[in-house]
Amino acid sequence: MSPPNPDSLIACHECDLLQTAPDLPPGSAACCARCGARLFRVTHHGLDRCLALTLAAGVLFVIANLFPIVIVDLQGQQVSTTLMGAVRALYAQERPLVAALVFATTMLVPAIELFAITWMLLPLRFGHAAPGLRPCFRWVQSARPWSMIEVFMLGVLVSVAKLSHVAVVVPGLALWSFGALILLLAAAASAFDGRELWARVARTA
Ligand SMILES: [Zn+2]
Repeated sequence: MSPPNPDSLIACHECDLLQTAPDLPPGSAACCARCGARLFRVTHHGLDRCLALTLAAGVLFVIANLFPIVIVDLQGQQVSTTLMGAVRALYAQERPLVAALVFATTMLVPAIELFAITWMLLPLRFGHAAPGLRPCFRWVQSARPWSMIEVFMLGVLVSVAKLSHVAVVVPGLALWSFGALILLLAAAASAFDGRELWARVARTA
């Protein structure tokens, strides 16, 4: 009996059972033979869908950073701020740590994550593996928990609800963009298929 191909072996992330991954048609999923946990799902052009969603998310990310988040109208005086303006205001109010956290979790990490995914997937779309693909893949996996646009969005919504008692608060274009961005990022993350990525990388070698 010949030994199994190492590329077809897969370890269950729940119980660590090493098993042979079967060839499955798109849309189906493989489950662990011991504990029943889902091992992987075969997506239909998952990486191309992920790339398209990431590029769309990149456009929304730019809009979300260029336009005001909220416009506050207090007795005829209008005040609006962008995300960078909010970071600057926090810094000016002697809260450098909070300003740094907001900057890192809502601007820096999401921007690098969007760039890194595009860097990995765009050349693969044309049959090439991007330089530094492996560290890039590891970085995206480890940095994802630090992207907290959802938390920021929740904070802004709570602030808008509280401010609406004392002033007229109009959600800015950036707020709508952030809402759509959260949905696109979640869809891109679910379309990302690590198995397909490495299979395509192997085909480029
Ligand atoms: Zn298992």
